[in-house]
Amino acid sequence: MNIILLGPPGAGKGTQSSLLVQHHGMRQLSTGDMLRAAVAAHTPIGIQAKAIMDAGQLVSDDIVSALIDAELVAMEPVTGAIFDGYPRTAAQAEALDAILAKHDRQLDVVIELAVDEDELVRRITGRYTCAKCGEGYHDTSKQPVIAGTCDRCGSHEFKRRPDDNEETVRKRMQVYRQETAPILPGYEARGIVRRLDGMAPIGEVTAAIEILLERG
Ligand code: AMP
Repeated sequence: MNIILLGPPGAGKGTQSSLLVQHHGMRQLSTGDMLRAAVAAHTPIGIQAKAIMDAGQLVSDDIVSALIDAELVAMEPVTGAIFDGYPRTAAQAEALDAILAKHDRQLDVVIELAVDEDELVRRITGRYTCAKCGEGYHDTSKQPVIAGTCDRCGSHEFKRRPDDNEETVRKRMQVYRQETAPILPGYEARGIVRRLDGMAPIGEVTAAIEILLERG
């Protein structure tokens, strides 16, 4: 299966992707993660992308589409793909169609996670991860069981994304409304959009996704 998870920043795309990876052996293709890895490794793409990401703007369509293509080249054809944070513009949606066709894949479903913006700002500005294993936490809704210690790996180091501050988050949402939301009607016309309540608790969203995947 090939799935797009679509929704503004903080809608839960990354969380739900990780669960799909764990339960179904699918592969999460997050352009945000790929770009952050490039920034951390100081590659030419990373150096170019850093300021754009810090400002909450979009990195060029060609760069992110090339990243996605390269990942699919390296993937077994039977492994399902979850596109997380890609496509984000009409040009990327078009590029994805061409990339999928090239790899003999087809898009099965676009899962839209619908959310409330103010609640999203609360979610995003409170989130942080374990610096060692990447487990996700939140200042109010998901603290480690033992304060300051990662539940999963025991590390005491945590980190926050530099673009998870209120100003940048509002900017990223505006970009989502202007650039990304307009790609939905094209997928709706193909009859492959399923809309879920992204404000529901994580487990409920996961259960709704599971039902969707079973029923097709
Ligand atoms: P994310 O982790 O998906 O929220 O992405 C973090 C940042 O990386 C975004 O605010 C953009 O600056 C950049 N980015 C990630 N995916 C894309 C994409 N598909 N197109 C353009 N920029 C992207």
